[in-house]
Amino acid sequence: MEQFETIEKLINSLRKLPGIGIKSAERIAYQILDMKKDNINEMIDALQSINDISTCPLCGSYTENGFCPFCNDQHRDQDTIVIVSFFKDALAFEKLKSYHGLYHILGGSLNPAKGIGINDINISSLLKRIENGNIKEIILATNPTLEGETTALYITRLLEKYKVTVSRLAYGLPMGGQLDYADELTLTKALEGRNILRKE
Ligand SMILES: [Zn+2]
Repeated sequence: MEQFETIEKLINSLRKLPGIGIKSAERIAYQILDMKKDNINEMIDALQSINDISTCPLCGSYTENGFCPFCNDQHRDQDTIVIVSFFKDALAFEKLKSYHGLYHILGGSLNPAKGIGINDINISSLLKRIENGNIKEIILATNPTLEGETTALYITRLLEKYKVTVSRLAYGLPMGGQLDYADELTLTKALEGRNILRKE
């Protein structure tokens, strides 16, 4: 059956979401269509207000006005920055009760194959933060993928001239997992990053 033009437009728009294929987009579009008018208007308002969100000039996080809540929070450790590729990664750290420092959101990872180079990620403002602030440690928390590794390596080299500790998240085996199921790379990295429990 041919779709109505308006629904077609909604389906095409929904398909731009990552992980949403044509079937899911169609299902969601018709679910929206079946919603109450009030709820549809509420959704339209919510989507429209997304335009009010911009990025924090300091860390690249989302903000509604000026600096973001992370940068505005004076109770955080002001000398530690976790570097992540995306905002959602910072949220993962926020769920931990053990990290109280700042963040820097790159907005992606270096990926030469996709044409994502150093000018496409948020690095220059990071250097400014290090030059202007009292940053003692940079924790690289980009993904343990080829792109994430490339990005971490590039930033490590870039920071060589600054008096700042640079650390990378440990690679390890998933908790509750089984050793013989781990892939070769994970096991190699876990071996390299082993912790000494007793030294003689
Ligand atoms: Zn910020």
